Amino acid sequence: MLKNNLEEVRRNMEAAAVRCGRSIDEVTLIAVSKTKPVEMIQEVYDLGVRDFGENKVQELVDKYDRLPHDIRWHLIGHLQTNKVKYIIDKAYLIHSVDSLKLAKEISKEAVKRGICVNVLIEVNVAGEESKYGFSPDEVVDAVREIAQLPSIYIKGLMTVAPYVAVDEENRQFFIKIKQLTVDIMQKNIDNVSMDFISMGMSGDYEVAIEEGATYIRVGTSIFGERNYNIK
Ligand SMILES: *Cc1c(COP(=O)(O)O)cnc(C)c1O
Repeated sequence: MLKNNLEEVRRNMEAAAVRCGRSIDEVTLIAVSKTKPVEMIQEVYDLGVRDFGENKVQELVDKYDRLPHDIRWHLIGHLQTNKVKYIIDKAYLIHSVDSLKLAKEISKEAVKRGICVNVLIEVNVAGEESKYGFSPDEVVDAVREIAQLPSIYIKGLMTVAPYVAVDEENRQFFIKIKQLTVDIMQKNIDNVSMDFISMGMSGDYEVAIEEGATYIRVGTSIFGERNYNIK
């Protein structure tokens, strides 16, 4: 099942890249393994995937210890400041920097340990009440402020688009995020690159690729539905 699912996702990724004239090498698939057991993750790893996404600190830390160490773990969920210390040396990329307070804590912890931490800035592109992230209007100022903190490096933007029945409805939001990265790049802010755009999930990753995603975060289409009750 996992093999077929993964093959289908890879075929769809490839087709989306071809449709918009991009190279598939520009797009990295993150297999979102939250709530899924290590045995399933190992199976997907054995099929060649090295990038996995988790949204909870404790779960990422547990899995980190039990799985191969060449996995790149992406933290994609809201991060509380008091948990930064547990994750900072385990996450390859923190996608979900959604406040200045969090950025300051990451910076402080990185300085303390003498490491550099790469992050993406989360944008609440549709202005949804229920979602974390800076509004599109705030993001440039936020990037400017965070860029001045030591040992934290902004590498791009991330968004969680609305849950929609038809993926086309999210195209406008993906276009908006891409445009924001272009705007920010043009400002030439020190220590800031916009190399990565993390957007697109099971329901809309093809449209996200067409509009410039470099990381797509796909859970259900690889691992199947999540059952939160038996966790
Ligand atoms: C769960 C999750 C995903 C994956 O969602 P699917 O619809 O299962 O592909 C992607 N991004 C974030 C931030 C998530 O929490």
